[in-house]
Amino acid sequence: MSARDERLAANEAFFRQLNERLEELTPAAASALIVVCECADEDCAQRLTLRQEEYEAIRAHDTYFVVAVGHVDSRIEHVVRQTDRFEVVAKRGAAADVAEDLDPRSAA
Ligand SMILES: [Zn+2]
Repeated sequence: MSARDERLAANEAFFRQLNERLEELTPAAASALIVVCECADEDCAQRLTLRQEEYEAIRAHDTYFVVAVGHVDSRIEHVVRQTDRFEVVAKRGAAADVAEDLDPRSAA
């Protein structure tokens, strides 16, 4: 994997960690969760609104990330789910390894 691909994957993993914190801070009674787009663009801070169960379904896979519609980087990931509010991507190859290594939920 190139240094650039590694950086892209690390950036997405960083936003996933941020979103984990946002979820923790969201009251369980709240029906919607505001998360930040987890795409590879480090300047992107687009907000996405997901239901808690939608977010949990994504987090159940350590190589899945949620991104805004059109923010998919096809060099390192492919779309596994598409809605009119967000897309879910799965990392592949070396980028998936980085995603797994940096998954806050698998570290425990
Ligand atoms: Zn984005």
